Amino acid sequence: MIPLYKTWLIQIEITNACTFQCANCTRYVGHHRKPYFMDLGMFEKAVDSLKGYHGGIGIMGGEPTLHPEFPQICELLNRKVPPQKCGIWTSGYKWREYRNLIKKTFKYAVSFNDHSDPNQKHQPVFVAIDEVIRDKKLMWDLIDHCWVQETWSPAINHKGAFFCEVAAAMDIFLDGPGGYPVERGWWAREPEDFRDQVERYCRLCGAALPMECSSNREAADLISPGNLELFKKHGSPKIARGRYQVFDRVMDDRVRELRKDWSPQNYLGVRTGRFIKKLLPLQYILLFLGEFRRKKDLKLDELWLLNRGTYNTRRVWIRIKRKLFEKKPPRGNFSPPNGEERK
Ligand code: SF4
Repeated sequence: MIPLYKTWLIQIEITNACTFQCANCTRYVGHHRKPYFMDLGMFEKAVDSLKGYHGGIGIMGGEPTLHPEFPQICELLNRKVPPQKCGIWTSGYKWREYRNLIKKTFKYAVSFNDHSDPNQKHQPVFVAIDEVIRDKKLMWDLIDHCWVQETWSPAINHKGAFFCEVAAAMDIFLDGPGGYPVERGWWAREPEDFRDQVERYCRLCGAALPMECSSNREAADLISPGNLELFKKHGSPKIARGRYQVFDRVMDDRVRELRKDWSPQNYLGVRTGRFIKKLLPLQYILLFLGEFRRKKDLKLDELWLLNRGTYNTRRVWIRIKRKLFEKKPPRGNFSPPNGEERK
């Protein structure tokens, strides 16, 4: 586990309402009986608590633009945090209504994913690692190197502060004890201080499990038997509708095998590795224009703004920028390790 103060981003999760119900959603969308919306007081507290944090502040959901006070949230952020430190993760749902506000507040990092690409995948987070891995030493080793924790974000939601965004979502759904108090510098503590959350939630999670994933567009979540009972107990509407598939295999040997070449960061379905490294800037531009053709209702500069935060064209942006315009990322801007992007 890497210390939270070394992460590149902390998400403030202002709602878990969403217009989609993707398979294996890391925010448990579809399993909550009622969405939450963070109140402005809590949001301000969350922003203040991150004073001194070196990384970016992300606004995320669910779909953050569904928050009824989204304009006020942007205003508050504008007042307190320079735009180069802010990012938003959106499906573009209210882009027409909020485009100017979003451009003003998050001009350096708008991460757009309309989840329309069937090649995108979510790690089966509802398969409890504790149920499918017999060798507990292996289990804790996988958890200690969880790619979500190492390359993504701690999170703050209306229940407090969490070392990991998936654990934060789990705490809401499972009616957990809540996170740490959202006070200044909570993120500056050492990893051992977050051990209780790790013990409570990582065992129930499948993010650290090297295994094959299905498309986000699949109707069913993959879930282990113990978690299925837990989800039923907590009244998951998606489970009640039968939108799940039980996964009850012992995975020790398969995991040892898959672990060697596992690259879970590739969940957005883009070909990476040698192939992508050899692509010329011109080919990246063609990829971008292909996307422009698919989303004709956006102006070219808007699509660029929206997509430079996403995986495909984020890569376009980063590579072109690094190759042609600059040697180092601009000061004060933030970007994920290896230029990876998600959601
Ligand atoms: S195993 Fe799950 S809860 Fe634990 S750090 Fe990874 S994503 Fe978060």
